[in-house]
Amino acid sequence: MQKEVIIVIGGGITGLTVALELAQLGKHPLVVERGPLLGGRSASLPCKATDRCLKCNNCLVEDTLRQIKYDSPFEFMTHTTISDIRREAESWYVTLETGPFFIDWEKCTDCGACYEACARLGASGVVRGASINQHPFFGIDQKACSCLQKGADPACVKECPEGAINILTRPQTRQVKAHGIVVATGYTPYVPPEKNRFGYGRLPNVITTQEADEMLRESGAVTRPSDGRVPQRVAFVQCVGSRDRRIGREYCSRICCGYSLRLALHMIHKYPDVDITIFYMDIQNFGKDFEKYYSEVKDKAKLVRGLPGDFYALDEGKISVSYFSEEQQKNVAQPFDLVLLTIGLSPQEENPDLANMLGLGINEDGFLRPSQADASAVVVAGTARGPMDVAECICDAKSAAFKMANFLEGS
Ligand SMILES: Cc1cc2nc3c(=O)[nH]c(=O)nc-3n(C[C@H](O)[C@H](O)[C@H](O)COP(=O)(O)OP(=O)(O)OC[C@H]3O[C@@H](n4cnc5c(N)ncnc54)[C@H](O)[C@@H]3O)c2cc1C
Repeated sequence: MQKEVIIVIGGGITGLTVALELAQLGKHPLVVERGPLLGGRSASLPCKATDRCLKCNNCLVEDTLRQIKYDSPFEFMTHTTISDIRREAESWYVTLETGPFFIDWEKCTDCGACYEACARLGASGVVRGASINQHPFFGIDQKACSCLQKGADPACVKECPEGAINILTRPQTRQVKAHGIVVATGYTPYVPPEKNRFGYGRLPNVITTQEADEMLRESGAVTRPSDGRVPQRVAFVQCVGSRDRRIGREYCSRICCGYSLRLALHMIHKYPDVDITIFYMDIQNFGKDFEKYYSEVKDKAKLVRGLPGDFYALDEGKISVSYFSEEQQKNVAQPFDLVLLTIGLSPQEENPDLANMLGLGINEDGFLRPSQADASAVVVAGTARGPMDVAECICDAKSAAFKMANFLEGS
């Protein structure tokens, strides 16, 4: 009997969980990931444990990546996008484009020779995963490769002992007949625009929580970008890019209160002298054990209701943050060593194109929603359909796989 291929678009935690579930149900998922690596954004989230687990979910991502690395339970293609989809009767005819520059993960042994050759030249075209459980662990960022920009042969190609790096003049195409499609294309982290009032991009010690997370994951600590020192006074500014009518984003990103409270607790545990102030509009209580962490933060940090107004540079890389103090009933300014902007989740820019191609809808916040007419042949899962944390994405992915399996079995 012919295998029933299901295309899973997106290789983040949602897409990978959908594929694992479908494979366990005896189906044949094919994960199509446009980036060089699997794992999506959650692969670079750090563990936020203190002397105990804070249930930040990030080890769930590691478990999933490990299972895929060692069991290879389904087929996947990285560096790949969908260039065309045609529907005929009960099937989808999908054209996939890979490359033109890519690592063939079936040949790659993750030895790192390509990465070393690239680093020696300072070419920054070879990227490395954040987790040792990622396979492929190395990938190519074509836009960042300075060899390609100069028109030279990339050093990594010669150095690869397995001949796993391909440079083609055109992308490689493959046609696949699919019986269903799961859209797990995820989200984009909000980036404050140029000339933002927080001083992001202007003041080196104003960074986003995503940058702080990456730093924690890479080096084990959140330090000041300007001098690498451990900050004494840290401000968290909540709801950056969420619930803000002025920038046309009125929705709550739901997960930011939870992840930033955990990050604050982690920092306090690591540096007990650190003085943390959290500026917030109101704390949104989403997720398991939230109340417990919230009351712990209330004991160990200062919570200020109301978002700050101005951010100015002071000497030694400090930042003056001004806000209305309810206690003093006036505007006050305080110096901080580091400001962390708690950013929200944005819909992917390509959502309207994807919706058009697959007959999906777009909700009022710009995330995807299934079409009314054909809800089960195309299923949307995870943060592609709205803000969720990793645990919610995993639940949503399992439900999407179940829906898809039911659809294929005609029930
Ligand atoms: C600063 C920050 C901190 C966070 N901290 C936590 C935390 O501590 N705990 C927690 O549980 N959650 C946290 N989250 C949320 C977490 O990142 C998400 O829940 C999770 O990454 C969503 O997974 P996903 O697979 O739905 O999407 P993504 O991780 O965005 O993955 C989607 C994948 O699809 C690929 N893709 C997109 N479009 C296409 C296309 N057209 N073709 C092919 N591939 C495509 C992308 O390249 C990507 O690999 C945090 C989020 C932010 C912004």
